[in-house]
Amino acid sequence: MDISVVVPLYNEAESLPELAAWIGRVMSANGFSYEIIFVNDGSTDESWEVIRRLREADPGHVRGVSFRRNYGKSPALNTGFGLAQGEVVITMDADLQDSPDEIPELYRMIREEGYDLVSGFKKKRYDPLSKTIPTKLFNATARKVSGIKNLHDFNCGLKAYRKAVVKHIEVYGDMHRYIPYLAKLAGFHRIGEKVVQHRARKYGKTKFGLDRFVNGYLDLATLWFTGKFGKKPMHLFGLLGSLMFLLGFISVAVVGGMKLWHMHTGAPYILVTDSPYFYLALVLMLMGSQLFLAGFVGELVVRNSPKRNDYEIEETI
Ligand code: UDP
Ligand code: MG
Repeated sequence: MDISVVVPLYNEAESLPELAAWIGRVMSANGFSYEIIFVNDGSTDESWEVIRRLREADPGHVRGVSFRRNYGKSPALNTGFGLAQGEVVITMDADLQDSPDEIPELYRMIREEGYDLVSGFKKKRYDPLSKTIPTKLFNATARKVSGIKNLHDFNCGLKAYRKAVVKHIEVYGDMHRYIPYLAKLAGFHRIGEKVVQHRARKYGKTKFGLDRFVNGYLDLATLWFTGKFGKKPMHLFGLLGSLMFLLGFISVAVVGGMKLWHMHTGAPYILVTDSPYFYLALVLMLMGSQLFLAGFVGELVVRNSPKRNDYEIEETI
């Protein structure tokens, strides 16, 4: 099979028939063999009934999976990725903001230009300003932290993947915003971008509020940490802890040493506890040991994780 289109959706009943028909038109015009996998993320509207009807009308191309409750876009994508059989997997939002007309070119970029992942770039967006401005900031940070310098739009719902990519990454929580970073961490480096058309939402309303930006930054921090130190937490905590402890130790030695020296030379001296540096040194030493302990605990967790020796092997000969 050439293409699997994975569509995560939450309360998008009105858009679905139009979307399915449009995808079908594009596929048959280009002679692709394909499947559409609708992942119903616990919709409370008619979405699932609509998907059932679409499947009845075209069982050869339409598949569906339905969560009992709303889990989020990432779990929906992950489930769709598990089921996908096409050589190229396309993800697309259900709200008709992404255009199926982009599919042939995305497919070509994966198959002929050798990309592992091609992300859409909504250069001209039809979203409110309250969303487009923070999005620019968000993408700049994501580029810096992930080191994927050529992407302008990490969170574009329209993306294309080589099959191996979706089978080797795990999208959980709200990590759908950083799929290119997840792919990079799994060893897929050929990540490209294609400017895509974006349209205003036709039916329904957006499912994400402003908390997306707070959560987005926290998730980015998590990915950075787990990507760099996930298998060796001591290398981060141990270093920070040792530095702090050392600084504290030196300070306390200086404070104590000075008192002893003044006593020795008969100069007037103050009690160690009268020096503010003594307290700073205490705090530093305490925090240093705490960080060090966090490192040990982290190492224990890693050691007991069944994934501790899980590597992405590309080829064995
Ligand atoms: N979505 C989902 N589960 C959720 C929230 C959203 O499957 O909990 C789907 C939604 O139905 C849509 C896509 O994710 O197909 C993108 O959502 P939305 O259009 O609301 O995001 P925006 O375009 O505003 O970024
Ligand atoms: Mg949308």
